[in-house]
Amino acid sequence: MSTSLSIGEFEITTVQDHQGMDRNPSEIYSEVPGTAWDPYRDFALDPDGFYRSQWRGHLIRSSNGGPSILVDTGMGPGPHDHTGNPGELIDSLNALCVSPEEIGLVVITHTHGDHIGWNVSYDGDSARATFPNARYLIPRADWDHYSQPENSNDAFDHSVKPLETLKVLDLVSGVHEIMPGVSTLPTNGHTPGHQCVLVESNGQTGVITGDLFHNVAQISEQDWCPVFDWDTTISTRSRQKLLGRAERENWVVFSGHLGIDKSIGKIVRNEGKTFWKAF
Ligand SMILES: [Zn+2]
Repeated sequence: MSTSLSIGEFEITTVQDHQGMDRNPSEIYSEVPGTAWDPYRDFALDPDGFYRSQWRGHLIRSSNGGPSILVDTGMGPGPHDHTGNPGELIDSLNALCVSPEEIGLVVITHTHGDHIGWNVSYDGDSARATFPNARYLIPRADWDHYSQPENSNDAFDHSVKPLETLKVLDLVSGVHEIMPGVSTLPTNGHTPGHQCVLVESNGQTGVITGDLFHNVAQISEQDWCPVFDWDTTISTRSRQKLLGRAERENWVVFSGHLGIDKSIGKIVRNEGKTFWKAF
């Protein structure tokens, strides 16, 4: 299942990869007392008190031509322990009649394992780019940080490092124009180089937010941080800044992990507080 929305000349489509894990809010938001969730329980948590994240990418296509852009590549082929099933990102692309060969650019919001999983495919030990005609745009600050031996991890070594040897790697920083109307927007804190992808056309703006937030309660409580954030002071500042702009300028927000039925929305204000309004 995919959902699409137009931003001027661009169509942005969710590309589902896999059902994420059931998350326990008291573990993921360990600094937030359980009772603080009460005002949000109805819409931010499931009836069992957990919330279920999703893994996905987003496809950006322009009606004026130009490269098809895939933002983030999900958790990868798997099979994944919590379901026993494989990731479905390539199947989801095929269902949209898009082959891996047609992707001209892969843009990674940050290099955590659930956003880079399909970057590279392996035949035995030999790696190849899953999207053979794409350049891969990786945040430079993530590359610099996770390339250090003390910060390295299997996901990075498996799905990002080989891009250099395969000669498809482009490191980006700051506001980087990907193509006219599409650019990266630095929003670090979740990782050292976390970035959003901004899409602007015909007076409309959409933003693909990666892991700027994981649960809709963070739209209202913007200083709540999941334990996955690398630096919570910086991630809070980035979240407040971007969500504030998205609210003021009426942006359409494409989330990384919300359920498919509410993954695209806007930031609205009601009685002094901001909320997620899903399309
Ligand atoms: Zn994530």
